[in-house]
Amino acid sequence: MESSFLDAVPIPAILVGPDERIVGLNPPAQRLFGVTLTGRTYITGLRQPALLDAIESVLRIGRISETTYVSTEASREVTWRASAAPVRLPAGQGALVSFLDITPMREADQMRRDFVANVSHELRTPLTALLGFIETLRGAAREDPVARDRFLAIMEGEAERMNRLVKDLLSLSRVEEAERVRPTDPVDIAGLVSSVVLMMNPMAVAQDVELTVDSIPGPLEVPGDADQLMQVLSNLIENAIKYGGRGSQVIVSLSTLEEDPVLRAPAATIRVRDTGEGMDPVHIPRLTERFYRVDSHRSREMGGTGLGLAIVKHIVNRHRGRMRIESAPGQGSTFSVILPMSAAQRG
Ligand code: ADP
Repeated sequence: MESSFLDAVPIPAILVGPDERIVGLNPPAQRLFGVTLTGRTYITGLRQPALLDAIESVLRIGRISETTYVSTEASREVTWRASAAPVRLPAGQGALVSFLDITPMREADQMRRDFVANVSHELRTPLTALLGFIETLRGAAREDPVARDRFLAIMEGEAERMNRLVKDLLSLSRVEEAERVRPTDPVDIAGLVSSVVLMMNPMAVAQDVELTVDSIPGPLEVPGDADQLMQVLSNLIENAIKYGGRGSQVIVSLSTLEEDPVLRAPAATIRVRDTGEGMDPVHIPRLTERFYRVDSHRSREMGGTGLGLAIVKHIVNRHRGRMRIESAPGQGSTFSVILPMSAAQRG
């Protein structure tokens, strides 16, 4: 009877009898521990001391006891919350031990902690600079108008850096919030590409970069959010200008595909190519992670927040599209955004 009850439990569960022997374990528990535990004492079968203590206290005192149990599955660590509870069996009081996989919660916790640590670090640098200059302006530079102006200009730059960071953080959180709702308004991305290129041209000119548009078909509609798609494009073009460097070229193009092999739908591809220094392809899979930079010093120097591509990725996901990044040292980089042209869901 006990074993049929156990089989109905969807998470790993083990029943220990009053004689300290394992009465039974359900299929998920058999997968977790191997199948040979029935009939053995729990002490020889289960081994991890914290788990043994929890079971012992249930058998002795009859009180629910919880602990953490760690297993290794396919070389990945899995963390379980093991809960041992008293159960009345025909032979006396036993213990039912069940295991809840809390690895995803642990990982989410870790990500949150990393994120807070990163944001704090990003804010601390400009804040430290600001505090230092305030100190200097109160003291040594008090009566020196030339130094004062110079310091104020630096302070303005640092405050702007914090402002950009906060703006990008808010933007990221808004995009993440809306990610599950696919936008449906028709957006003419051909017109959008032309207007963003026009908008970014002064920045290109200031950096001595030649920004051009290559092959744009006539009006081309995709279901989308116009503001967000503008942000995608301006982030990619801004990066291409920044990392392309003086004297480089940035070429934006737009093309269509009858059926994208991955999206399995007609798709439009926006491509932003630069003739800059490119990067080692090992970086490519991590570029869209928050705060990941190939060269942190260079990114900060150019006012980068490290969030631009993370924002792009989330917007593209929201549009059920995909991104492709190609780059090699000395070969420039190409960032492509592929968007489904029909409103039908990805199969
Ligand atoms: P950042 O604010 O640092 O530019 P992004 O998320 O926009 O942050 O980009 C992350 C990193 O990707 C950059 O720090 C840079 O190292 C790299 N990167 C982005 N675009 C390019 C590009 N066009 N050429 C070379 N590297 C790039």
